Amino acid sequence: MHRRTFLQTTAAGALLADASTPKMIGIQVGAVSFQDEGVEKVLDVFQESAAINTLFIATFTYGRGIAGRQVPGQPLPDHGKQEYDNGSGPGTFQGGSYTRVHPEYYKDTVLQDFRAPDFGDFDVLEAVIPAARKRGMKAICWFEDVWAGPEKVRNVGQAQEKTFAGGNAGTLCFNNPNYRNWLLGTVEDYARSYEIDGIMWGSERQGAFSNALGASHGGRADVGRTTCFCEHCERKAKSRGVDPARARAGFQELGRFLQAARQKRPIDGYYVGVWRLMLKYPELLAWEMLWTDSLRDTYAAMYQKVKSIKPSIGVGWHIWHNNSFNPIYRAEQDLSEISKHSDFLKMVMYHNCAGERMAGYIQTVGNTIYGDVPRQELLDFHYRVLDYKQEKKLADIPQTGFTPNYVYEEARRAREALNGTKTLLWPGIDIDIPTAASHSKCTPEVTREAVLAAFKGGADGVLLSRKYSEMKLANLRGAGEATKRAG
Ligand SMILES: [Zn+2]
Repeated sequence: MHRRTFLQTTAAGALLADASTPKMIGIQVGAVSFQDEGVEKVLDVFQESAAINTLFIATFTYGRGIAGRQVPGQPLPDHGKQEYDNGSGPGTFQGGSYTRVHPEYYKDTVLQDFRAPDFGDFDVLEAVIPAARKRGMKAICWFEDVWAGPEKVRNVGQAQEKTFAGGNAGTLCFNNPNYRNWLLGTVEDYARSYEIDGIMWGSERQGAFSNALGASHGGRADVGRTTCFCEHCERKAKSRGVDPARARAGFQELGRFLQAARQKRPIDGYYVGVWRLMLKYPELLAWEMLWTDSLRDTYAAMYQKVKSIKPSIGVGWHIWHNNSFNPIYRAEQDLSEISKHSDFLKMVMYHNCAGERMAGYIQTVGNTIYGDVPRQELLDFHYRVLDYKQEKKLADIPQTGFTPNYVYEEARRAREALNGTKTLLWPGIDIDIPTAASHSKCTPEVTREAVLAAFKGGADGVLLSRKYSEMKLANLRGAGEATKRAG
């Protein structure tokens, strides 16, 4: 049977698939690519270069990670408009919703003005879904937990998290009804207003304790800025038997400790000092887990909302790259729990930028909880506990990236954790995610190897990331050498 015909005959409801179904070959793509290059042209490229059968269309974000053209300062790829979309005026990247907002779904939240102004009345789902359908391609709404401030989003302050220092954070609180209802309204809007095959949402954040330690790539150890200490979170903590006043006292002491430790090694060292505070204030960990459980509750609520409307719509989550660096965060990504409310998981396994990002993570935690440990030893420890067997030395990884074997190890681990569940495993594959100019860049060969490694590890598909508008065609074709064999 011709491939296209085959996909068409299996398209209906086949997202929740059995083993005989072709692998999911997905790509993340934002509205700007369809605007700049034309819907049919983009879909032609996807099918011809990498046998893409599923579109992850960026429907909402205020961030450049999944929307907008290439990040300014990074080289433009060899397709699309050859100019950046920064600055001001028409055609510049603003962010928000790239679909029409149907107000009936947002009655229970103050967040009502979030339409992206970038392309006027353009609705990316309306423009792309019919064309995708004709080709037997599936369409998944892809949105993320990235917001703008009150200058762009009216009333956003009423949904924002509260920092330890008492101010509003730029991030929104899962326990705040304004945000919770917005998330539920958004998935209802997608599920009722469009013929979609799935919904994926992602939150690239973590709880207050890990944040205080700076335990992420790009993390900054700063207790004052950690979240969330709003009235909704404090009430939820109390209902779990956690005393907010004790938590505040714990974070206060942790902040003092970390500040003093920047000047001078603590008497008993960094590691012992942090442990002493964890033992004295178990609320530090309770507050971390309060945040994580609130994220899981959010997953569950969104999942149930979609299933109550249309059970055939697949629902899943983008799991942040920090899962590959910070063991505390990895401990929180308990797939036996998350899989209960997941038809699929996009586990981020970005091999190329992982080198730069792991090095950044080691630098930040090397100034806090692991301040006693020489950096290379600290990296070796992480390789051990995270089970990476072939990665290079700290001085080299920004220039080399991680190997395809990292993708294999991560896919294999996730596969094993998901065995016996209904959840499909779709590793996120790095194609030209920006790194510093002198750092490693993706190549067609290694991209191909990364995709093959994901399949060797037992993946049910792959999701080429983060956005088509930053990918070079040669690297997309490199992935295609592997996906064309697997699809
Ligand atoms: Zn809160």
